[in-house]
Amino acid sequence: MPPGSPSQIFTRHDRIFERNRFVYPVISRRSGGLSIGINLNPDKICNFGCIYCQVDRKLPGSTRFVDLEQLRRELEELLQAAVRGDLIRHPLFANVPPGQQRLKDLAFSGDGEPTSHRNFDEVVAACAEIKRLLAPEGVKMVLITNASLLDRPHVVRALEILDRHQGEIWAKLDAGTEAYFRRVNQSRFTLQRIVDNLAQTAQRRPIVIQSLFFRLEGEPPGPAELEAYCDRLQTILAAGGQLKAVQVYTVARPPAEPMVGALRDREVDAIAARVRQCTGIPTVAYYGCEFP
Ligand code: SF4
Repeated sequence: MPPGSPSQIFTRHDRIFERNRFVYPVISRRSGGLSIGINLNPDKICNFGCIYCQVDRKLPGSTRFVDLEQLRRELEELLQAAVRGDLIRHPLFANVPPGQQRLKDLAFSGDGEPTSHRNFDEVVAACAEIKRLLAPEGVKMVLITNASLLDRPHVVRALEILDRHQGEIWAKLDAGTEAYFRRVNQSRFTLQRIVDNLAQTAQRRPIVIQSLFFRLEGEPPGPAELEAYCDRLQTILAAGGQLKAVQVYTVARPPAEPMVGALRDREVDAIAARVRQCTGIPTVAYYGCEFP
């Protein structure tokens, strides 16, 4: 596959761009264009251990310390390059179709759980101010989170800042039962705690749920697990939570664990249709890519 071809672009989410340590550009399927990622976990430490995680933890992280001044500089430079149109002319993006070239968002994502950064609210405030000064109208701020810490005071404050700056929360929910959650997400938190956090957060603003389903040792998730998953979504709605959309997707890049495989497109479609039918929430399917 030639470098920069569309399918390779969607499978590459390199966190290191040029000499940056914290800020990197990607073409994001779920954003529908150019996304500027902010990595607050360069140490690659996460409070989940998802078995499909694509962060390569065999190689050590670059640093533990997030230097806010450097992060600001990197974000300003990359945002200015994006606005000038220079960024999209980088060889990495050589074959991006015109419809995917627009800057869509700044995304708190990266090699771990961004909200675990203890000054997350301070970082969000700094990035929001840079976006206000430099980004075109309509560029969003997206928090991609596993929802484990959404109840922490510094995270609640950060979410309120996001609310005032075209923020969106894209929160992970991959399971319906505690047993499957423990197997798939490998976390010290309970699924109940995650669902409670999602409900409380969604009571204050609409959120997006991101759910990754995959083939585990050759088998797709069973009907009972999917029913339990739909019940969890219903629980959030019944608690007054507002769910803007559900993104159903499967692995698009080679995961660390060989027992994990991508679902076929029709399997992803079937899960998305089931979610739509059970909950009435707009549901979008994203398919896997063939692994090189
Ligand atoms: S929450 Fe994200 S970074 Fe953490 S283990 Fe899961 S997929 Fe990887």
